[in-house]
Amino acid sequence: MDAVHYTSTRGGGTPRTFSEILLEGLAPDGGLYLPDHYPQVSADELESWRFLSYADLATEVLARFCDDIPLDDLRDIVHATYTPEVFGNARAGDDSAEIAPLHLLGEENGTQLFLLALSNGPTLAFKDLAMQLLGNLFEYQLARVGRELTILGATSGDTGSAAEYAMRGKHGIRVFMLSPHGRMSPFQVAQMFSLNDPNIVNLAVEGVFDDCQNIVKRVTEDAAFKVDHSIGVVNSINWARIVGQVIYYFHAWLRATDGPGQAVSFTVPSGNFGNVCAGHVARMMGLPIDTLVVATNENNVLDEFFTTGVYRMRPPADTFHTSSPSMDISRASNFERFVFDLVERDPVQLADLYRALDTDGYIDLSGTDAFARVAEFGFVSGTSTHADRVATIRSIDARYGITVDPHTADGLKVAREHLTPGIPMIALETAQPAKFGAIIDEALGHPPERPHSFEGLEAREQHFEVVPNDVDTIKRLIVERTAG
Ligand SMILES: *Cc1c(COP(=O)(O)O)cnc(C)c1O
Repeated sequence: MDAVHYTSTRGGGTPRTFSEILLEGLAPDGGLYLPDHYPQVSADELESWRFLSYADLATEVLARFCDDIPLDDLRDIVHATYTPEVFGNARAGDDSAEIAPLHLLGEENGTQLFLLALSNGPTLAFKDLAMQLLGNLFEYQLARVGRELTILGATSGDTGSAAEYAMRGKHGIRVFMLSPHGRMSPFQVAQMFSLNDPNIVNLAVEGVFDDCQNIVKRVTEDAAFKVDHSIGVVNSINWARIVGQVIYYFHAWLRATDGPGQAVSFTVPSGNFGNVCAGHVARMMGLPIDTLVVATNENNVLDEFFTTGVYRMRPPADTFHTSSPSMDISRASNFERFVFDLVERDPVQLADLYRALDTDGYIDLSGTDAFARVAEFGFVSGTSTHADRVATIRSIDARYGITVDPHTADGLKVAREHLTPGIPMIALETAQPAKFGAIIDEALGHPPERPHSFEGLEAREQHFEVVPNDVDTIKRLIVERTAG
């Protein structure tokens, strides 16, 4: 196998190894890291993986990207990550005891419709699958280089709790997580604030989510402070989070097919384009994927791109607050990785396009060869609204007796518009309905069931500090708490 090196989509810097980019977000030139080539998996290799456990499959896939981590170490990290203890929160009624169970819903339009359950982790959302891996990789790498890391994050609910549950108790890591005081759902608040680990600090900021994000931005812009206090971030552009998601596309394909070369399609509820980007990577590695369906909610900048070739950012003020809130984005941060492949990995052209995005607010690829590659890569898209979510939650419940969360409902709504007879469609379940009680109640007239371990969550003792919306206060807190 050729060694894999990582370079920035904008062409700056020298090629680096996986371990060198592991703890990083953006590349220094403002681009995103990508491997210099996609490792290929042959049909024979794929067949030899058919009966592997999730952890063994994950080791095979990751070994192709993390080739500077000794294989035995990687295997240990992966096996400590994908355990039934960590991913044992299956929804009530699902006793499959798998890390990521694939459920056949039934036949629609002459094809099999599957649901890939990715939300059995500690925060009941798919982000756990990559974030738990990240926590263990970070701990390993920090020990290897003798460093400590202070993670500063801002959350409106989901990403922050996935990060906290991944980093809790990890040596060499401390987390300061900012959230908007009084603006998260009771479930989200209880999930984050019931953690009582000395290395996790929950700061409830007297402000809105944008204020929290702004504080993180201001703190990390202070280069000296960032270095002195070893500040890092865990956002969705981290490459290791993408590879952590590539694994389950392989897993699902192996479970949905029974022989070489059989194509399947996936539908992915999308926000920052991280999840579906992982599907694209899997396809580029040789996994037989027919179509990748990008499902958006009312914030449909991605659907607009896939139908017109124009990618137009929405100012945050024009971004809707919807009932699938984890997809409420104005700019899809991982989209740059896909555009890089659309322009045949030309960093100069990519940098020009993103400069235009920053100045004019849009990228126009309509009528170009680059846009023609969208079809070559198997991408299509669709939009789902609040009414669609409600209708889909009802129809999936009525037809299959399964309750799905609103993000998954967006996916299923759009999946149904792209069914091809004979090609199995796998819809990704990105969260459990237990996290989004209001819309489930609206659709079905009763609250969602919870996994047993979440009974009484809101009654647990909560640990957090209310802090003013003020950068200096946060900096002082970081200095105080990281000393000694
Ligand atoms: C983060 C998230 C998404 C969007 O995923 P991206 O990788 O940002 O496209 C969809 N659904 C849920 C429940 C999420 O938490």
